[in-house]
Amino acid sequence: MAFESLSEKLQNVFKNLRGKGRLTEADVKAALKEVKIALLEADVNFKVVKNFVKSVQERAIGQDVMNGLNPGQMVIKIVNEELVSLMGSETTEIALMPGNQVTVIMMIGLQGAGKTTTAAKIAGKLKMKGRQPLLVACDIYRPAAIKQLEVNGEKQGVEVFSMGTNHSPVDIAKAAIEHAKNNGQNVVILDTAGRLQIDESMMQELVDVKEAAGVTQTLLVVDAMTGQEAVNVATTFNDRIGVDGVILTKLDGDTRGGAALSIRQVTGKPILYIGMGEKLSDLEQFYPDRMASRILG
Ligand code: GDP
Repeated sequence: MAFESLSEKLQNVFKNLRGKGRLTEADVKAALKEVKIALLEADVNFKVVKNFVKSVQERAIGQDVMNGLNPGQMVIKIVNEELVSLMGSETTEIALMPGNQVTVIMMIGLQGAGKTTTAAKIAGKLKMKGRQPLLVACDIYRPAAIKQLEVNGEKQGVEVFSMGTNHSPVDIAKAAIEHAKNNGQNVVILDTAGRLQIDESMMQELVDVKEAAGVTQTLLVVDAMTGQEAVNVATTFNDRIGVDGVILTKLDGDTRGGAALSIRQVTGKPILYIGMGEKLSDLEQFYPDRMASRILG
């Protein structure tokens, strides 16, 4: 389970604080040094860690202790609040167009991040909310990806629009939107091609699709297992394409979790959902407060 090691380390730090009736400045500083190490070991971005520890320290030292809490509990409360704020505080939803206007969602990310699976997971969620989604296969480089989308779409009871591999992604996206308008579908989800590494032609293709299709929401899918790299990928995609929200996949795995704690601060973009498994139902809304509780145990 993600965060296991971080959780354990933080709990150890706090165990020592919890019992104390009085906390000196030195106690707080020593505890926060341990917190800092634990966060760095969990692969949280170093600038994020630095700012985090600074904020907690400023609040914890010289703070009046609240009624009913001892100073140790107070520090834990502050750490919890700062973790929540680090992850964006509020839960963010995919912004859908009002009424029956068509929302166009573009899924982007590196190959293997979980884009195709997540596209189908999101289609299922939207369907449950009463929307009529259409999944669109814009990956013209890997016939297997088209097939995978078709299989997943069928499992979700969602139509998959595909034109094979002989048309440009821009043409496919435009044709899909027309198709959706003619068939009463109001959310078009474009599954785009990924590459093993970011390259210029991939970026340009995504920019072209985004513009031509009038994309409403660009959702970036990143693999939590890749840690700091996930954050770098998010920064690059956001700078080049513009990202509205992030979906962090594979948080069910044995990830150290640093990406979940860094992405919001580094990119300014919210995490919307987390992938918690390979099954199409394994997608959870991201709640910063619940994630903080999970980490603090
Ligand atoms: P794409 O290349 O970005 O479209 O990635 P895929 O959707 O093909 O996913 C790559 C692999 O990751 C597949 O084996 C998926 O089943 C798996 N996968 C996707 N999301 C998750 C997740 O949240 N948890 C786990 N454990 N596996 C996932």
